[in-house]
Amino acid sequence: MDLNDFLRDVPDFPKPGIVFKDITPLLATPAAMLHCVERFAELVSGQTIDRVAAIESRGFLFGVPLALHLGVGFTPIRKPGKLPWKTRRQDYALEYGTDAVEIHEDAVEPGQSVLLIDDLLATGGTMRASCDLIEQIGGKIAACAFVVELGFLPGRAKLAPYPTHALLRVD
Ligand code: AMP
Repeated sequence: MDLNDFLRDVPDFPKPGIVFKDITPLLATPAAMLHCVERFAELVSGQTIDRVAAIESRGFLFGVPLALHLGVGFTPIRKPGKLPWKTRRQDYALEYGTDAVEIHEDAVEPGQSVLLIDDLLATGGTMRASCDLIEQIGGKIAACAFVVELGFLPGRAKLAPYPTHALLRVD
């Protein structure tokens, strides 16, 4: 199965110069979604995974079915102000300005091995901040995995300390 068939390029969204990778055709195709979940599971087969964590909001769309498939719990990582319990926050740099992600401070148990999921790897800032959060609350990073990697950006280098996988790389 070629996942490219289920991604739609939308030029100049959300701003001029960005080619947005629209995953809605993939979400609309059960066989393609199942393919993603099974391939993510294969990438970590043989590793202990205690938790799947994913990043708001498109990461949830892959992280939750993957957690169910692996038979482990799911941990949401969200934009600031969304999580109701006690949180930890990690800021990260954008091209202009900063952004942040948050996690519940009891979202993983100390020493648990966490697989992090997002839909797309661009600069890597969001995932790197998410890895920092997991480590802050005592988790260990088993791997980071994405549906799509933009190979012309240095995201993979930013995640160098961690095993990093992508189902599809575009250049
Ligand atoms: P980054 O922190 O630069 O790796 O950006 C990753 C986050 O931004 C992911 O959550 C993606 O969903 C989103 N993102 C960045 N660039 C794109 C793009 N070209 N198409 C779709 N989503 C994107």
